[in-house]
Amino acid sequence: MSHDDVRMHAAGDEANETPQLEPSRRQVITGFAAVTLGITATSPPQDPVKQDPGTAGRSPWGEDTWKEPTPAPVSQRPGEQVLPAQPRKYTDIKSYHAHIYFDEDNHAKAALLRRWVAERFVVELGNWNREPRGPHVTPSFYFGFTNDLLPVIVPWLQLNSLGLTILLHPNTEDPRADHLHYALWINRTQAVNAFAMKKPGAGEPAVEQIFPNTKPTVKLEA
Ligand code: ZN
Repeated sequence: MSHDDVRMHAAGDEANETPQLEPSRRQVITGFAAVTLGITATSPPQDPVKQDPGTAGRSPWGEDTWKEPTPAPVSQRPGEQVLPAQPRKYTDIKSYHAHIYFDEDNHAKAALLRRWVAERFVVELGNWNREPRGPHVTPSFYFGFTNDLLPVIVPWLQLNSLGLTILLHPNTEDPRADHLHYALWINRTQAVNAFAMKKPGAGEPAVEQIFPNTKPTVKLEA
């Protein structure tokens, strides 16, 4: 409906133009026209919604949160409280994980993809996670691989995802950022509960290690 149409309806004889409508319906239409055209409404304003006296003054946040200023948030990215002076070295990435998510409806696809991977690539193949595990909020399995496989694994997964949701994250010295800020996704994203992930403690490897455990039997299609 153009503004001209609205103006015609607003200015016209309602009884003739909209004879089939109830009076309340006509009021809605003319009210819409008034708003669209910036015409002051003739009906009195509605009473504001009153707060339930039973809950008034009981917010745990106090009653003045609406007055709080809106400062810029603290940076979520490690070491970047201000804009970085230099880009990070891509060689900070020591390896990758691909996490394949599935559910009760598509687990057969996950099983097929898992078999295809094990038959073709030398990777670290993890267990089936039939329930949420670690930061992963749905059933999943993962395989880890070394950097040299990245130019093959990415296009291979793009063409063979079978529609599954796949998280592909690097392994640096910061697991939290690896999952939340440095990730690639295939098909779509989903929630990753990695906010509490910590850097490795003293005596632990600084970066997630990859220990390949598959023995390929099929020549990669190319
Ligand atoms: Zn991972």
